[in-house]
Amino acid sequence: MYYLSLNNNSSKTSFKEAVRKGIAPDRGLYFPEEITSLPEEFLKNLHEYSNEEIAFKALEQFTGNEIPKEELEKIIKETLCFDFPLVQIADDIYALELFHGPTMAFKDVGARFMARCLRYFNAEEEDKEITVLVATSGDTGGAVASGFLGVKGVNVVILYPSGKVSAIQKKQLTTLGQNITALEVDGTFDDCQEMVKSAFIDPQLSSVSLTSANSINVARWLPQMLYYFFAYKELSAGNKKIVFSVPSGNFGNICAGMVAARLGLPIDHFIASTNINDTVLQFLETGIYQPKPSKQTISNAMDVGNPSNFIRIQKLMNNDTHRLKSVFSSFSYTDRETKKAIKLIYKNSGYIADPHGAVGYLGLKEYMKSTDKCTGVFLETAHPIKFRDVVESVIGKKLPIPGQIKSVLDKEEVSIPINSYEGLKSYLISKS
Ligand SMILES: *Cc1c(COP(=O)(O)O)cnc(C)c1O
Repeated sequence: MYYLSLNNNSSKTSFKEAVRKGIAPDRGLYFPEEITSLPEEFLKNLHEYSNEEIAFKALEQFTGNEIPKEELEKIIKETLCFDFPLVQIADDIYALELFHGPTMAFKDVGARFMARCLRYFNAEEEDKEITVLVATSGDTGGAVASGFLGVKGVNVVILYPSGKVSAIQKKQLTTLGQNITALEVDGTFDDCQEMVKSAFIDPQLSSVSLTSANSINVARWLPQMLYYFFAYKELSAGNKKIVFSVPSGNFGNICAGMVAARLGLPIDHFIASTNINDTVLQFLETGIYQPKPSKQTISNAMDVGNPSNFIRIQKLMNNDTHRLKSVFSSFSYTDRETKKAIKLIYKNSGYIADPHGAVGYLGLKEYMKSTDKCTGVFLETAHPIKFRDVVESVIGKKLPIPGQIKSVLDKEEVSIPINSYEGLKSYLISKS
């Protein structure tokens, strides 16, 4: 399998190079050269396959012949070491819980898969150390830190916006040590993301092997398509249309779902549910894509003003906005509406949603209002405990603390403050 740069100015590259580079030399995102549908027989009989078998079938064309079969099977097995339960919370409405991994964020799957692909490729190139550079608005950092902890030959540098991640998220990214370093940036998530992008094209850093572990990296992005297969497998009993509402920030997760649809998974519609960072909704309404500085909200993992994967979604749709709108809608919600939804869901079903899941729920309800009967799934992308203050105050109840979280709470936080790109650069140079 080859990957193209969406900026069209770099030559096509292998999966291995796409993973090791993260972003193409022309700063474009990598995109699979072609996507081949899966056999109809397989899709019809999904329920007969284990999650691991489904994952292998869905992913093998994207890794091509660069990862041998047994190795890919092993990577998948290590990646999918937890469950993805589908919880019914009303007639026709389900929450797909993606937060049962080690850091209780859906990003655990992508991070674990990418770390293991890099481990495999690094074993081939013994002496070449690689630095994974990642900007986080909250959950990515923790998932990447945990997924890469102790992986030989890989150093991880995480940039997070000071004061804009939750207390638990901060613990998860600053307490691991070993090959993981956290940099606390005096700025927003967008500033962190810009710094990462600049480092990739800085000629003075060309001797440092850098890659990204944001969803711009194909190995982080693509395995997220598996959630949709797993949910579909559980639901496939009925023959109603299935729609997914995805709480979206950088739009990697929803874009991976659209790749699953391209592989033949019969998903009727995708709903990109966002907080007030609504660049994509505005695009759908006006036809103008206008990135904006991100605004801080209670669903902070979605505080993104310039969603990097939207360009991949456009590519999937051949840059045809009309076609896009036939399978994709977007809705945006304020913090006030989000809190109201958390309260309502709890009151009606006893289910405790986190702010991101609640935004997903709202988008799903809004879409379903105006459409024929269908089965709706919203993705629950983080465990409510990670947004403990908000959730506890809204539902008026204390949340029990799960084991994964307990284990980091009293560890010591270590981070290095930086306030500009120069700060990042000198750190990287000092370490190389
Ligand atoms: C990262 C994240 C999102 C947004 O996912 P994207 O793929 O960036 O759209 C939503 N919810 C949570 C909890 C996240 O961590």
